[in-house]
Amino acid sequence: MSQRVRTSPEGSGQPLNEVYDTALLDLDGVVYAGGNAIAHAVDSLELARTGGMHLAYVTNNALRTPDAVAGHLTELGIPAGADDVITSAQAVARLISEQVPAGARVLVIGGEGLRVALRERGLTPVESADDDPAAVVQGYGGPDLPWGRFAEASYAVRRGVPWYASNTDLTIPSGRGIAPGNGAAVEVVRIATGAEPQVAGKPLPPMHRETIIRTGAERPLVVGDRLDTDIEGAFNGEVDSLLVLTGVTDGVQLLAAPPRHRPTYVDADLRGLLTGQPEVGREDDGFRCGGWTATAGSDRLELTGDGEAMDGLRALCAAAWTAAGDDSCALDGQKALARLGL
Ligand SMILES: [Mg+2]
Repeated sequence: MSQRVRTSPEGSGQPLNEVYDTALLDLDGVVYAGGNAIAHAVDSLELARTGGMHLAYVTNNALRTPDAVAGHLTELGIPAGADDVITSAQAVARLISEQVPAGARVLVIGGEGLRVALRERGLTPVESADDDPAAVVQGYGGPDLPWGRFAEASYAVRRGVPWYASNTDLTIPSGRGIAPGNGAAVEVVRIATGAEPQVAGKPLPPMHRETIIRTGAERPLVVGDRLDTDIEGAFNGEVDSLLVLTGVTDGVQLLAAPPRHRPTYVDADLRGLLTGQPEVGREDDGFRCGGWTATAGSDRLELTGDGEAMDGLRALCAAAWTAAGDDSCALDGQKALARLGL
């Protein structure tokens, strides 16, 4: 299982969509980027779905409702219903509902996704610190959230009202660059109050629990592009994970990953769901995958051979993670990665 120290990506003789009953897919950097579908996502997901795999979409973004996300996916050619989408707004709403009286008022600093999720749990969204809220919840509110909303949160939190956050991603990708995410907004209130929120989103357990409750998955595979949210969330939930390289993680970060950030499998994109995964073999002269052999030198990783780039990356992961043990690998992998075009 994921909690032991992983020292190599694993192999699978069977296609992953036959090994796992449910794919828990991150959205940004996995399925779409900047509103457009990522290469091979539409076709691969269609084949996985018609082959019998249940697909669920798991996002830390609390702004949009599951309905809106499902509509966007369907427009991209990925048929999805609201029930197939799990958001951090839903996870934080359940967390709050377990800790406050039924029907309690909750001060909302965020968007529609958060309000809908609170109502679904029988809670009453309110807008002012003077509405006697039993909780304060903060979720991403989009670019037009007024500064005064952080003041509203601070008034209530200062009075000792329990404070929750859907997620603490510091940044959010936009078509024009990197924008402040909900984590940055949470920092504003934290600085003003000195308080600490309870957080629901990836990589924390409330989000994983929400995902399992809603999908009923028995053998889930987390599919993501970020090591510190998707892959760490799978590690914390003790389930397997597939890292795809279509988003924010590059080869350097993957080779340096500490144990909680090491995925079970690595592939270029979502086509990896439909195939088996090659084994990395440990040989006398290094770690072999496909036509590549990787070794850990005194200050850098070495790679010899040729073949598929992903096989070379898997061999390098095994060399780096084995050398690092339960730490982060400090060996230079740049030159070896350059051979792979990564
Ligand atoms: Mg992502």
